[in-house]
This record gives sequence, C-alpha cells and structure tokens, in this order.
Amino acid sequence: MRDDVTALIEPGTRGPGDRRRPAHRRSSRSPRRDRKGKDKRGDLREIARCLRVLGLKGLVPRLAGVGVMALVAGLAQAGMLVIITECALGAAQGKRQVHVAGHSLSFWSAIACSVALLVVYGLSSVAGTFLNTSSTTLALKASQQTIVRSFFRADWSVQSGERLGHIQQLLSMNAGQVAGLIASIVRGLVAFLTLVSLLGVAVIVNPLAATAVLVVGAILSVVMRPFNKLTKAASRKLSSVSQATGTLATEYSRMTREFRVFGVQSRALAQLTSLVNQTAAVYRRSQRLAGLYTVVYQTIALAFVVGAIAVVGSHKIDNLGSVGAVLLLILRSLSSTSGILGTGQAIRSSQGFVEDAASDVVRYEAREQRNPPEVTVPDRFDVTFDHVSFTYGGEALALEDVSFSVPEGALVGVVGRSGSGKTTLSQILLGVRQPTSGSALIGNVHPSSLARTDGKSPIAFVPQDPLLLQGSIAYNISFFRDAPQEEIEEAARSAHLAPDIERMSMGYDTPVGEGGGGALSGGQRQRLAIARALLGRPRVIVLDEPTSALDVRSELLIRQTLSELRGHVTMIVISHRLATVENCDYLLVLSDGHLTDAGPRETVVNGEPFSRVSSTALIGTG
Ligand code: ADP
Ligand code: MG
Repeated sequence: MRDDVTALIEPGTRGPGDRRRPAHRRSSRSPRRDRKGKDKRGDLREIARCLRVLGLKGLVPRLAGVGVMALVAGLAQAGMLVIITECALGAAQGKRQVHVAGHSLSFWSAIACSVALLVVYGLSSVAGTFLNTSSTTLALKASQQTIVRSFFRADWSVQSGERLGHIQQLLSMNAGQVAGLIASIVRGLVAFLTLVSLLGVAVIVNPLAATAVLVVGAILSVVMRPFNKLTKAASRKLSSVSQATGTLATEYSRMTREFRVFGVQSRALAQLTSLVNQTAAVYRRSQRLAGLYTVVYQTIALAFVVGAIAVVGSHKIDNLGSVGAVLLLILRSLSSTSGILGTGQAIRSSQGFVEDAASDVVRYEAREQRNPPEVTVPDRFDVTFDHVSFTYGGEALALEDVSFSVPEGALVGVVGRSGSGKTTLSQILLGVRQPTSGSALIGNVHPSSLARTDGKSPIAFVPQDPLLLQGSIAYNISFFRDAPQEEIEEAARSAHLAPDIERMSMGYDTPVGEGGGGALSGGQRQRLAIARALLGRPRVIVLDEPTSALDVRSELLIRQTLSELRGHVTMIVISHRLATVENCDYLLVLSDGHLTDAGPRETVVNGEPFSRVSSTALIGTG
C-alpha cells in the first residue's frame, strides 16, 4: 500500500508499482523547458507533434475551411459595420449620400449593401460553425481510435504493466481534452482571422487608429504572459492528479470486499479523499487563473477605449463618420483580441492532457507486438524448450537454461514453489513473452509466430483467475469467435460445465460478468474458462494453477476433462496440487528458475527434487 499519495502524481517520486511514466518521457520534456526564449514556438511545435501522434492529420483541410469562412465572415462584418456607421452619421446630419472608402452611394443602396453583407456574414458563420463541430468531433473520434488501437496492438508486457483504469481515463478525460484543444484552436483561428479582417478594413478607413489597436494588442499580450505560464503548469498538474484519482478509484472500487474484511476501508477512503482534495485544489487554481485573466484583460481593454475616446474628443474632427466606424471596428477587434489571448490560455490548459495522451500512444507504439508477416501453423504439436532463459529486465533470471521436450498429446505437469518461474514458462509457451535467450518451439514454430487474428489459434489458455465479460454464459464461451450454439454446448459438455448450466433457469443465456455478484462459483468460472479454451479445438492448452482454489467436485471434473483430452491435445498444467499432477504423463520440476527434474511422472515423483518441492509447496488432497 502506498504511504504517500503524492508518489502517484509527482514525476520522480512515484511509487515502485507505477510503471506508467517511462524515462524517455521525462527526458523529452526537460530540454523544452530550458529553452525559455523559444518556449512559445516550442509549445506550438510540441502541440502539433502530439496532434500528429494522436492521428489528427485529417483535421488540416477542415481547419483551412474554418479559416476561409472566418475570413469571409470577418470581412463582411467589417464592411457592414463601416457602411451602417456612415449611414447613421450621414442620416443624423441630414445627408442623403453616404461616403464609403472613397465611393459615394445613395442611402438606400448603402442599406442594401449592408443587408447583402449581413447575409454573407450569416451564411459563412453557419458554414464555419458546422466545420468547427465536425473538427472537434473528428478530434475526439480520431484520438480515441488511436489510443485504443495503439494499446491493443502493444506488446503484452506493456499492456499487462498498465495501471487499472488508465485506458478508461485516457479515453474519457484526455481524449475529451484533445477535442477541447481543437475547439480552442478553431476559436483562436476564427478570432485571429476576424481581427485581421477588421484591422484590414480599419487600415483602409483610418490607418492611425488601426495602428493604435495593434499596439494595445501587443501590450496586452505582454501583460498577460505570466498568466500563460501559470495556466500551463496548472494544466500539467491537473492532468496527472486527475489521472491518478481516476486510476486509484478504479483500483479501489474493485477491492471493496478486501477493504471491508481487512478493516481498512477508512484508510483507503482517506487516500482517495486526499487525492480528490488535491484535484480540487489544482482545479480551483486553474479556474481562478482563468477568471482573473478575463477580469484583468477586460479592465485594461476598457481603459484603452476610454483613453481613445478622450484622444478623439480633444482633437478637431473633420470626418466624424470614419472615426465612428473605426471606433466600432476597434471595439469589435478588442473582443477578437480577447478571443485570441483566451485561446492561448485554453490551449495551455488542455496541453498537459494532450501531451500525456500522446506520450502514452508513443510508448504503446514503440512496443508494438511483433507479428510475423505470415502466420505459421505447426505440422505437429510437441513442445520443446532449448536452453531457454528469461529475465524481466532486472539482473535476476526468472528462468535459466531450461531445456525439455514433451511429445504431442501428453499431459504435462509443471510443479515448483511460488516464484520458481512457472507462470513465466507458461507465458513463453503462449507466445506473449519471448525468451531472452534460447528458443521455445511448438512443433517447428515459435509460439509468438502463432499469433492470429482470425480467432482460430491452435493454442489455448486457462488462467488461474479467469475474467468474464459482461454478457451471457454462451457469449463468454464463444468469446468473439462466432461459434454456433451446438459448438458452445459441446465445449461446455467437454468442460463438464453443461449440467451446471442446464440447472440454471436461463441456461446458456444466464448473465455473468465481473460486476454484480456473478452467478457462477469459482469452480464454475474455471470450467467456463476451460470451455472457452476448448471451443477453438486447440492442439495445445496451457493451464496455470487451474485447480488451486477450487471445491473438490470442480477439481475432480477438471481432472476428468484433462484425462479425456489426453492423446488429442498437448496439455501443460501448472499446479500446486499433488492431486492434479497425479494423472500427468510427465512432470517438470522448477526451482528458482532452474529445471531440476523432468521425465515420466513415475520416475520424477520418486526423485529428490520433487520430494523437496512436494514436502513444502504441494498440498495433497487425495
Ligand atoms: P511462479 O509462477 O512459479 O510463482 P513466476 O514465473 O510468476 O513464478 O515468477 C518467477 C520470478 O519472476 C519471480 O522471482 C518473480 O518475482 C519474477 N516476476 C514475475 N513476474 C514479473 C514481472 N512482471 N516483472 C518482474 N518480475 C517478475
Ligand atoms: Mg504463478
């Protein structure tokens, strides 16, 4: 149990169990922070890189469309503002002719022009809005697809090392922030292009006033800079603290039974509450920054408007219409400037989440499982280990120089104390881990080359703690393989599960799953896992401690299944139980990663290595 929840969120002070933040990620960040001068451009480049990683390249044409629409809408808006100001001031002075940018129009033609521009403005804004929503939707979809795809294609060692709930968090929160970031970028783009159009028109009408607006915009962006840095830092912190809260909540919600039994509910709750409080504090800080930002910005901007009016008022005005039009344009520009600066703020507040998601995708893709170009099907199904060693990366070898071979159709027991390397051996056999040296072969094929995508694998697995999908028993046996009902029932019969199912009122439609109590006992779950394994008519089955925690009846039924499969299927059974290995043809004895004995069962059980293991670790039940 972690003593300190900050270990979950502070890079560098993470708990030993947390494998989710790789070293390359930390090192890739620090140089960017050092280049203070190029921070902004570096940020933009970094965001662009993250968006590429998350599969958002397809957004470029849509964003270009948004830009064109914004430019058209901005020009139409500016033109209309200038014309109606001139109309209003002309009307106030009783003139029937309106002067716009050197042209003279009748009052009604000017009004007609305004209406036309208004229609252009409305239509282009609507088109922009549609492009905008389709961009954010695409961003959400593409990033979620990329995250899911990269995770499912990653090497199993990466998948199995991921914290519970991490993927859910990436898909909901981080992908949501990616969509939010795109929405911000679109808003910023629209604000920027609107500003460009307004200022462009203002320059034509009154160059001096337009220059003044640019200067004020520049001043504002400098004044607001400290806010940007604070916002970015708050976002990074918020991303990691929310991620930690989410994964911890997922993990803890699965352990409520243990918490209750061990009497540690309140401690677990305290840890979770502490993280929730930290999240709240970081959230409050980022919201405050956003609120303050608006207040400071608006105050400065309004001060500028007051100053501008004062300057205009103290001078003699020869063209009231142009001054009025420019003032209107400036007021509109200020809201665009605010939009642009606010965008920077919003982008920074999503940045941490987006970077986290991208770095996870990079990590998954770096360890993509190596599928051979062509899947090979062995011509025979004997199993050979030739000087196999395996290490999990540390110095100690989990398996060292293990060599054995067992004939096709044999029932093989693997025994050894806890930590002796049994599970590692089974994972190499299943092809989810590759030997560090030596080779493992099923027939003439490496197990990892058996990886298939058509659901017709010749090798099957029964784990110690089989997991069920939310759904019916039939669905759990068929396990995505589109099997007809007869095959499902046949598999259930072979696994000696059929009589249990037939006693249930809903039979094969009985709902099961991880949540909601579960309609199955441990022994039934285990037999369901065996039925799932048998459905594909496998030629090799690996069973990891299949009977370690079972009732006597289930254990007997499973032993019966194994005996019935003898001769047809090569079976590797890892077990603590003497009873389970009693009917094996061959036994392998593992001790601290070494194969200390191997051979026909009768020979091995009389040997010294077996008696050493069986006197301490194997519990005979009959
Ligand atoms: P068994 O199944 O016989 O109990 P394992 O194959 O699970 O043994 O483990 C063999 C050794 O490898 C043990 O020392 C264990 O601590 C280590 N080990 C197992 N899994 C991992 C892992 N994912 N990362 C690092 N070490 C591991
Ligand atoms: Mg094990």
